[in-house]
Amino acid sequence: MTTAIYPGTFDPITKGHVDIIQRASRLFDTVIVGIATSVRKTPYFDLDKRVAMVNAALSGFANVTVYALDGLLIDCAKANQATVILRGLRAVSDFDYEFQLASMNRALDREIETVFLPATQEHAYISATMVREILSLGGDVSGFVPEVVSQMLSRG
Ligand code: ADP
Repeated sequence: MTTAIYPGTFDPITKGHVDIIQRASRLFDTVIVGIATSVRKTPYFDLDKRVAMVNAALSGFANVTVYALDGLLIDCAKANQATVILRGLRAVSDFDYEFQLASMNRALDREIETVFLPATQEHAYISATMVREILSLGGDVSGFVPEVVSQMLSRG
């Protein structure tokens, strides 16, 4: 049994995130989506709203669970018997940060491996940062987030 943990801010969850989760759910027995509190990033959506949007977007996946991540990722992985940290790679620009993050996590715990999945071409340009930017300017983000999330966003 291999459990992977997919950490992120998911502010908000996008079609790119869902694509990574969907593909990972076929590779691993269990996928835990870990939603970081990310207090230092001052998220656009509060934790409850981000968790609600992720739960709504992933309701069809039997082997995916959603957790609010509190504390060190490695500790949360261990507590949930996860041996893989899952991350998505969109472009070369993601690489420096992701490589550093993977190396730091590896230095903290050698038993846990980071696995990267490449973004699919149609989702590679989607970023939560730009979704937030469009939202804050009153634009339409329905092409970038799951349908159910789009509905939640338009309800406010
Ligand atoms: P963070 O706050 O750490 O940047 P995000 O929630 O933005 O986390 O993203 C979590 C993970 O999902 C990261 O590994 C990121 O590279 C990946 N990711 C984000 N958007 C996409 C996308 N469109 N396609 C594939 N992977 C993505």
